[in-house]
Amino acid sequence: MVNSSHTTVKSLRLAAALGLVAGVAVTAGRAQEPHSTVADLIQTASIKAALAAARASEPQTIDDQIRFCEIPAPSFKEAARGAELRKAFQELGLQNVRVDAAGNVLGDRPGAAPRPRLVVAAHLDTVFPEGTDVHVKRDGAMLYGPGIGDDCRGLGVLVATIRALKQASVETPGSITFVADVGEEGLGDLRGMKQLFNDTMKGQIDRFVSIDSTGLSITNVAVASHRYRVTFKGPGGHSFGAFGLANPIDAMGRAIAKIAEFQVPGEPRTTFNVGRVGGGTSVNSIPFEAWMEVDLRSRDRASLASLDASFHKAVDAAVVEENERWRTPGVITAVKDLVGDRPAGSTPSDAPIVQTAIAVARAVGISAGLSEGSTDANVPMSLRIPAVTIGGGGRGVDGHALTEAFDATDAWKGTQNAVLLTIALAQK
Ligand SMILES: [Zn+2]
Repeated sequence: MVNSSHTTVKSLRLAAALGLVAGVAVTAGRAQEPHSTVADLIQTASIKAALAAARASEPQTIDDQIRFCEIPAPSFKEAARGAELRKAFQELGLQNVRVDAAGNVLGDRPGAAPRPRLVVAAHLDTVFPEGTDVHVKRDGAMLYGPGIGDDCRGLGVLVATIRALKQASVETPGSITFVADVGEEGLGDLRGMKQLFNDTMKGQIDRFVSIDSTGLSITNVAVASHRYRVTFKGPGGHSFGAFGLANPIDAMGRAIAKIAEFQVPGEPRTTFNVGRVGGGTSVNSIPFEAWMEVDLRSRDRASLASLDASFHKAVDAAVVEENERWRTPGVITAVKDLVGDRPAGSTPSDAPIVQTAIAVARAVGISAGLSEGSTDANVPMSLRIPAVTIGGGGRGVDGHALTEAFDATDAWKGTQNAVLLTIALAQK
């Protein structure tokens, strides 16, 4: 997950204008909107008890967070950690606990009616490859370990939410499905969410919340991305004897130089990145293959499309240039494989689900800004299903790095936030 904050003041003014800050949207005519106000909800005894339970069991939440983190779960290898979440779902009494075709772990908490149905999710996978030491070190409120924040904090808060609703015997008008999903990171390409919305629970989801990483922001804008693996090929040969052969690494170098010069708008934020390169045979060989992985992003569909077109043009031109350099047309070739396609989308800041998230944050004593990011919520947002991503509380350090850490100071506020939002969005 990557995000950046914007328009907090503007949305609060909007909320004030709509008379919504303390409560949930009751604007005339929209179906599926939660109708009880947050202010009313927090007066309810069982909900007060759930919030108290969320705070009181934070030490357990941290223990769970560490336990999940110490089970390696690189993208495509989430099964072992998934099994641990499945056990937790079963122990906490969720119904119909199951694993779907992608490896997502699901468990239901029926309400008075099957609809509206809320899905609350957190992702199982991390960016860290197999073999990474995922042991967590603790020093006071600080936890150190790869993935401890992203997204073991989300998984810990997901389980804590189920536990708090159970301990306080909260009943909801609508039904909830909790999901520990696969493939949020990197080349996982949101495959868990794509499976969930396009197959496992197709047409059954009315609202969606993902708990991703740390902090307290609300992500309501999805940053789209196209990711490519480009493979350059050539005949290869002896670096001395065959000198004069076109070289796939040179072609790649030419392409990277062109990409590095791309001019992109600052607003809407649009970015490009050559993240990984590889290839070559030996120092004394002209290589027969080289590859690179490229990340193109924007929260604006048109900006991403034009960046995508520039990318294709740059790679094609680089191949032509390298072949022309050695007057060997067609000797070097390049194949561009789309290995990641994350849709753009957004949930408007005046949408009930966003206003509810702001009101809930306020009710538990935190001010949550709106932000944009690439998260599991990209999929429902692109399908125009009301969706947000929230942070799991606490403070994260060095996400996606081996030095990742989590500061658990006041982290219980994030847990309370998730508990109350879950209850508020499971209302009629
Ligand atoms: Zn994440």
